[in-house]
Amino acid sequence: MLFLLSCPQKQDAKDVRDMTRMPKLKNCPECGKVFLENGGACCPACMKQREEQKAEIVSFLREHPKSSVDEICGALGVKKSLVIYMLQPGRLDGIEVHVEYPCAACGEMILSGRYCRPCSAKMAEELEDSARRVRHRAASQRGRGRRNDDV
Ligand SMILES: [Zn+2]
Ligand SMILES: [Zn+2]
Repeated sequence: MLFLLSCPQKQDAKDVRDMTRMPKLKNCPECGKVFLENGGACCPACMKQREEQKAEIVSFLREHPKSSVDEICGALGVKKSLVIYMLQPGRLDGIEVHVEYPCAACGEMILSGRYCRPCSAKMAEELEDSARRVRHRAASQRGRGRRNDDV
């Protein structure tokens, strides 16, 4: 694959633009090995392992749709984060499961999404709040430094 980096031909404009997307050498976040980045987050070996583990998680859940994350990790020797990743909507091939995992913000056990209900409500509120502040700032700039806060 290294020939890609030193290919002397292809000098037209399109390829110059494509240069920015040329594969780069990168350390695999899983095993630390250096690999040629090709769109994947980790090296081909880890990527392959990850795909195999994903398939294992799916088939395990097919047989044990009500297991816990710890049971899955214990049975398959996979990372908790990968199990939680696989539990997100659209990744389980339509299998109905009932597996609790911790909310990414507070650790409360949940069955779907990334956050528990209170955390997602809080986040939606904060988002709405900052959107309102931005709108408000824009409005007060139009009103030349009008200072009263009507939020
Ligand atoms: Zn790796
Ligand atoms: Zn939460």
